[in-house]
Amino acid sequence: MKIMKFGGTSVGRPERMAQVAQLITADNEPKIVVLSALSGTTNALVEISNALAAYKRDEAKQLIDKLEAHYHAFVKDLVKQDASVAKATAIVHEHFEFLNIILKISFSDALNKDILAQGELLSTKLFCVFLAEIGIDHALLPALEFMSIDMNDEPQVPVISAKLKDALAQHAGKSLFITQGYICRNARGEVDNLKRGGSDYSASLIAAAVQASVCEIWTDIDGMHNNDPRVCKKTVPVEQLSFEEAAELAYFGAKILHPASIWPAQHYNVPVKLLNTMEPAAKGTLIVEEAGSTGVKAVAAKDGIYAINIRSSRMLLAYGFLRKIFEVFEKYRTSIDMITTSEVAVSVTIDNATHLAEILKELEPFGTVEVEDNQTIVSVVGNEIAETKDVLMKLFDSLKDIPVRMVSYGGSRHNVSLLLPSAHKTTTLQALNSGLFGLE
Ligand code: ADP
Ligand code: ASP
Ligand code: MG
Repeated sequence: MKIMKFGGTSVGRPERMAQVAQLITADNEPKIVVLSALSGTTNALVEISNALAAYKRDEAKQLIDKLEAHYHAFVKDLVKQDASVAKATAIVHEHFEFLNIILKISFSDALNKDILAQGELLSTKLFCVFLAEIGIDHALLPALEFMSIDMNDEPQVPVISAKLKDALAQHAGKSLFITQGYICRNARGEVDNLKRGGSDYSASLIAAAVQASVCEIWTDIDGMHNNDPRVCKKTVPVEQLSFEEAAELAYFGAKILHPASIWPAQHYNVPVKLLNTMEPAAKGTLIVEEAGSTGVKAVAAKDGIYAINIRSSRMLLAYGFLRKIFEVFEKYRTSIDMITTSEVAVSVTIDNATHLAEILKELEPFGTVEVEDNQTIVSVVGNEIAETKDVLMKLFDSLKDIPVRMVSYGGSRHNVSLLLPSAHKTTTLQALNSGLFGLE
């Protein structure tokens, strides 16, 4: 069985949905097709939710009406036969009626998750109406019946696998399944989600759960590029990445993949392919356990980082100091991305400031604590990069004019990470694009 995931742009227009229908019927292998919401929908739903949370009901109503009009126009171009138009229109009505009812209920976090789920529910149901109209046999697998997260908001593949097998067993004889990315149920049984961009994670979890032959992530670009194409003029696709390399790029900001989307595929050894819906013949990127070449492959950047520096002469010659510091972060379930130490100071970075105030308070007894916000981690990733001749020289040569705040080198054999003020991100990525890759 194979998994094919299509992102927002890939399903964002009626003619794109037609193209997706072609791609998923190009071979006879049984498949589960994972769809995102139409591009722009989840952002619109976030806006609706925010307006409701701020008691701006009129604004929320206007946003709901605008989104509904978009869907009616979409349906008009998607299906032609009267019966399909009626069916698709009824689906749009059903989901917008739900949003209109929500306008009258007091806002809560659970309700917010219900609102955010509407995008994927709509896209998959409309796509199924379209498939039925053009005579493609299929079944809709509701993700809320099998995709789940535990008490720590973590998905567990064996649990998902068991539920998914039950769901598949209800459709004997079918070989094409459509399901929602992003949405899931939490430990309380409520509708929840796998965070923004989470459809990639859904696809990888499903691929792991059914031991798929491949997990294809179809998007609007021909694979993982060597640098952020939104920042650098000329970037090129990387042909192969190891799971480790891809996981680091995703975690450190390459938006093409959700940060957690590689581990399920890696753990269950399912190859991942990044492919372009608009250019299906392009090679894309293949992600497997052992990627062929060594050396620098790509650069990614992650914003919104906080650097915390703890300075204390008591650290000198003391043991157990780092453990005590780490325990504070552990207590507040805040993960550390980068760390550097000297005899009298330790610097760490975090990307989640939810418990920053409490963390700082508990760190105070250990020494002088300073925080800097608006930092960016730039990661240079490539197999055995640490041992590749000249990489460090070229790297630091490119960064002559950048106020680099921390460097992490050696922790992983395929990653060198730098911390710098976010204001220098663009110049840094561009300097590395020419310095490491010889590209403009
Ligand atoms: P989808 O809606 O299909 O999930 P996303 O917008 O989430 O698509 O991801 C694709 C986008 O990721 C690309 O259009 C590109 O702008 C951005 N991106 C950022 N870094 C990279 C990179 N290193 N390689 C490829 N794309 C990248
Ligand atoms: N629709 C969700 C989002 O926009 C999930 C996804 O597209 O992967 O974040
Ligand atoms: Mg995405």
